[in-house]
Amino acid sequence: MAEFDVDLFVIGGGSGGVRAARIAAGYGARVMIAEEYRMGGTCVIRGCVPKKLFVMGSHVEQEIEDAAGFGWTIAQASFDWPTLIRNKDKEIARLEGIYTANVEKAGVEVVKTRAVFEDAHTLRLADGRTVTARYILIATGGAPNHGPAIPGIEHVISSNEAFHLAALPKRILIQGGGYIALEFACIFAGFGSDVTVVYRGDNILRGFDEDVRAHVRSEMEKRGITILTGCTVTKVDKHGDDYTSHLSNGSSIASEQVMFAIGRHPNIGGLGLQKVGVALNPHNGGITVDGWSKTSVPSIYAIGDVTHRLNLTPVAIRDGHAFADTLFGKRPVQVDHATIPTAVFSQPEVGTVGLTETEARAQFGHVDVYKTTFRPIKATMSGRDTRVLMKLLVDGVSDRVLGCHIVGDGAAEIIQAVAIAVKMKATKADFDATVALHPTAAEELVTMRTPSARHVREAAAE
Ligand SMILES: Cc1cc2nc3c(=O)[nH]c(=O)nc-3n(C[C@H](O)[C@H](O)[C@H](O)COP(=O)(O)OP(=O)(O)OC[C@H]3O[C@@H](n4cnc5c(N)ncnc54)[C@H](O)[C@@H]3O)c2cc1C
Repeated sequence: MAEFDVDLFVIGGGSGGVRAARIAAGYGARVMIAEEYRMGGTCVIRGCVPKKLFVMGSHVEQEIEDAAGFGWTIAQASFDWPTLIRNKDKEIARLEGIYTANVEKAGVEVVKTRAVFEDAHTLRLADGRTVTARYILIATGGAPNHGPAIPGIEHVISSNEAFHLAALPKRILIQGGGYIALEFACIFAGFGSDVTVVYRGDNILRGFDEDVRAHVRSEMEKRGITILTGCTVTKVDKHGDDYTSHLSNGSSIASEQVMFAIGRHPNIGGLGLQKVGVALNPHNGGITVDGWSKTSVPSIYAIGDVTHRLNLTPVAIRDGHAFADTLFGKRPVQVDHATIPTAVFSQPEVGTVGLTETEARAQFGHVDVYKTTFRPIKATMSGRDTRVLMKLLVDGVSDRVLGCHIVGDGAAEIIQAVAIAVKMKATKADFDATVALHPTAAEELVTMRTPSARHVREAAAE
């Protein structure tokens, strides 16, 4: 009889868990995966995918407005929120089915239940059954974090609920300044809601390049979104179907929905980690892992958002794949978490890779900044008041491009390709040697010749 019921037990059927399970099974491992909600996890069910579908739908009104400058007369357009939700739900159910089918096709046993630790090799399922495993992979992801329990917090929704609202709110207050808050602000505004963003910091998109932060804010404000910084929601009162949010600056705002997107925490509650001795990172509360995704317990590994590092789907997938290659494919792979491109699907979009100007100047003694803002060609006809931002940060000594930041339509698509060059350590001379593709917005990336700023750090006095 085998020593363990399975070679690998994966807790969590999200992006990372599914990839790890499928690849490990492909190497011949006996694999079981537990999912307590829906296969596909956050990205497929209530993250990237439904969000992108909403983003696409919310762009349509702007397209219709812009069409007039190109000669189109479009009869009164109308929008039906329940149709959007219904069609989105249909697509998500289709994807969920594909995820389950693919993982089962690979020979993985799927158990639609919650799993928690009994000991370092044993899981207890919700039906009371226990399963033993040689290795256990924690891929339980993260969940919205509402912050301190202010009065009325029970009325506040998160991104989870935003995907299932029965009606489009005429007015919504969104607290948060990160990418999820801003994406939903632009989604609701695009569909016609009156949106107020409340953020405690001095500007939105903390951690992004300062020029990007300023540019996105001004573009969102031009689209009619109110952004209040330096304050927080301290109390939410309910009156019938409406709410009043009281702010720390003494003002109050009425709305039909109040949404918080102020951060996410790793999904570790009740897993039994303490019992088995899995150590947590004291700085971020995520599970501590080494370069091989191994936790402090030799038979237990963790990947994806539960490690609370770079909470992005492609990172969870890469980590899951590398874990399976290493442990079951005898092909040791460590994932390089440096220079990972990211996007914010706000309107306009943000695409970014590499260092911000602040980071570049802290790490390099000579940084050249190439920056341009310009009116996109479409706006010349549509009359829309919008500008594109493009910025390159270059190490003045090696000529290497350290970072690239774009705000404008198509920024996410552009940055994916630029990320290849930045990852390959391309120099500014390489960018300059690349002939422009005209007429595009991206051609600016290879035609900026003169630095808009040069920062040379004085050598420290002897
Ligand atoms: C609104 C939103 C938008 C996003 N947009 C993007 C984007 O545009 N691009 C991007 O790259 N990333 C995006 N993300 C982040 C992305 O969704 C996550 O980084 C990714 O899903 C992480 O994958 P994971 O496998 O670590 O965890 P998850 O996908 O969260 O999967 C974890 C799974 O584990 C299950 N689970 C938890 N505990 C247990 C248990 N004890 N037993 C059984 N099952 C359990 C959960 O139900 C869940 O299905 C977004 C996230 C949100 C919330």
